[in-house]
Amino acid sequence: MQNLKQYCAAATTMNKIEHIGIAVRNLSVSVPLFEKLLNSHCYKTETVESEQVNTAFFKQAETKIELLESAGPEGIISNYISKKGEGIHHIAFEVSDIYAEMKRLKEEGFILLNEEPKEGADNKLVCFLHPKSANGVLIELCMEKPMSDV
Ligand code: ZN
Repeated sequence: MQNLKQYCAAATTMNKIEHIGIAVRNLSVSVPLFEKLLNSHCYKTETVESEQVNTAFFKQAETKIELLESAGPEGIISNYISKKGEGIHHIAFEVSDIYAEMKRLKEEGFILLNEEPKEGADNKLVCFLHPKSANGVLIELCMEKPMSDV
């Protein structure tokens, strides 16, 4: 019973795949490429200073694609690309309550990369889970920032 209860709780809290993050070397090359691929326009670009990353967003129905380019030589994306090359970087799930999900996942043994939610792109509070605790997949939790914080 315990397992079933946990499963049900998880099913309602990890709402949907909000976006897939893709590491790219150069947005000026990859934005036109994805515009062609998806047959839609990039609707937003944004720099997240704290992560040294430039982002570009596409929206396909309910799901977004987030292209990530390093904003500096020391950025996390720059490190990632030098190790692994371009490609899928993370999967982001929309959650209704990021604090509750972080607590739940931590209790389940997942490793949180930040202990408090932090500011992400696209008006979100985010938290990342270490890939080594999730079969090699970097998982992002994201929640729309409450209006009062904007
Ligand atoms: Zn993301």
